[in-house]
Order: sequence, then structure tokens, then C-alpha cells
Amino acid sequence: MAKIIDGKEFAKAFDEKLINKIENLYLKGIMPTIGILRVGENPGDLAYERGAVNKANKLGIKVEKYICENDISMEDLIAVIKSINENDEIHGLLMLRPLPPHIDEDLVRNQLDFRKDLDCITDLSLANVFTGAEGGFPPCTAEACIELLKHYNIEIVGKNCLVIGRSTVIGKPVAMMLLKENGTVTICHSRTPKDILIEMCKKADIVIVAAGKRAIFTKEMAHKNQVVIDVGINVNDEGKLCGDVDYKEVEPIVAAITPVPGGVGSVTTSMLMSHLITE
Ligand code: NAP
Repeated sequence: MAKIIDGKEFAKAFDEKLINKIENLYLKGIMPTIGILRVGENPGDLAYERGAVNKANKLGIKVEKYICENDISMEDLIAVIKSINENDEIHGLLMLRPLPPHIDEDLVRNQLDFRKDLDCITDLSLANVFTGAEGGFPPCTAEACIELLKHYNIEIVGKNCLVIGRSTVIGKPVAMMLLKENGTVTICHSRTPKDILIEMCKKADIVIVAAGKRAIFTKEMAHKNQVVIDVGINVNDEGKLCGDVDYKEVEPIVAAITPVPGGVGSVTTSMLMSHLITE
């Protein structure tokens, strides 16, 4: 039986510390405020927005929503972002993505002042994750993986760390963050042949699975000393949420594992809110 890396338990303790910091800000007359920018009514965006608003309410953080029509012009969207950059009462922004196809997302996301970039959407924030320079914030999901490992005292230094997935949102940044923690890091992706993927997994002490493919990590990839962090969010045949790991098969084999739900996803909005509270 694996140790369960419990994201809800971690988030509860983390949030309590955040609330103390927020109360100190109130005493200084500061009301921490997050902007949430959404274009259109994408169900995935609405779900993420709901999660962020609930967390903000729980912590005592004010939310300002910027809701734009799906057919907003790029100029108007950029004007919204610039107004947020200039508004001293908005301390950071969550911009829900992807944006509609008529918008040049690369151009738009880079208009945000990187100091207000809570989820690492600007190239400047990402560059800092890659160079290790100070300033800006890492992507919340990648940070959630690292914070869970640290909280559960899982040694990263020198360990054989495997990341499955190479997206700019999770795979690449989490690999860089593991490297910063002195892990020995390998990345696999959709072009990695299955036999090599199995071989890499078998050798890995820590596996971060972020492929967005249900049950991609199976029992033949697992071993008893391994820690498995499952980032995936999928829906199974019964319509229930599941990760990228075949949890039923893998959990009895490995040393520690995150469940889905209740693992990485439970920590992400706490990371997001912590980026507002820098004092
Ligand atoms: P993405 O942009 O689709 O990237 C998926 C990555 O996985 C790609 O690099 C892809 O390789 C790789 N991949 C796909 N199939 C593979 C296979 N069979 N073997 C090995 N690698 C494979 O997805 P993402 O945005 O990184 O998200 C990954 C997952 O995390 C999704 O399920 C998403 O819903 C979830 N997620 C969770 C949270 C959270 O808070 N828990 C937050 C955001 C996202 P190529 O590059 O070769 O295509």
C-alpha cells in the first residue's frame, strides 16, 4: 500500500498560513484582490473560475471579474489587460485560456505586467523559471507538484526524476523546477517509444505524469520505491474524474502516490492565491 500524498490535507494547512498573512495585510489597510479575465463561456474556464472564486472567498481575497464576449477584438482585449496593469487595486490576474482562435494568444498574454502574472502566462515569467532568475511566479500546477514533494519530505536531490509530458504549462516548467531542486531529470513525450517509456519509468524514483491521457502510467512502469505525482485530469467510463495513472493497479505497488481527485488539483488554487500575498 502506497503512502497517499493528500493534496486536500496539504492545501488546508497551506491556506491557514495564507489566512494569517492576509489578516496582516488587512491590518495595513490592504485588501488583496485578484482579477479574473475570461473570454466567452468555455465550460473548462467556468469550472476553473468557480474553483478560484471559491478559494478566494474562503481566504478573504477580493475578486474582480473581467468577462468579455467571445468575439471581443484583440485591441479591446489588450486594452482590458492594460487597464488591469495600471490598476493598483488589482494585485494579480488569472487569465483563463485558451483564448478564441481569432485572438493572437502569444501577443495578448505578453501584454500582462509580469509582476501581476499569477500563473506564469508571460514569456518573461517563463524565462525566469528556465533561467532560475528571481521575479515572477512559476505555473501554479507545476509549483503544486514541487510543494507536495517537499511537504511530504520526498528527497529530490540527485534522484532520478521523470516527467511525462512536455507542455509549456506543466511538463517543461516542472522539469526545470525539479532540476533547480537538483533532481536528475528526464522528459518523455508522445514520440517516446513505449518500450523506452517503460524503461525510463522503471528507473525513475519520482514520476510526474502530465500527459492528459487516462491510464497511461500502468503497473509495468511502477516499482516499490517510486513516488508518482499524477497531474492528469480526465473522465473515466463512469463519468468520474480520473488522472493519467491507472491508480487501482499502481497504488498497491509504489511507495507514494497522489490521488485524482484530491491530489495536485486540490493544491493549484492555493498556489495561485499565494502569488497575490507576497509580503
Ligand atoms: P497538453 O498540452 O496536451 O500536453 C500533454 C503532453 O503529454 C504533451 O507534451 C504530449 O506530448 C504528452 N503526451 C501525450 N500523450 C502521450 C503519451 N502517450 N506518452 C507520453 N507523452 C504523451 O496537456 P497539459 O496542459 O500539459 O496538461 C496535462 C494534463 O494535466 C491534462 O490532463 C490536464 O487536464 C491536466 N491539468 C491538471 C491541472 C491540475 O491542476 N491538476 C492543471 C492543468 C492541467 P507531445 O508534446 O509530443 O504532444
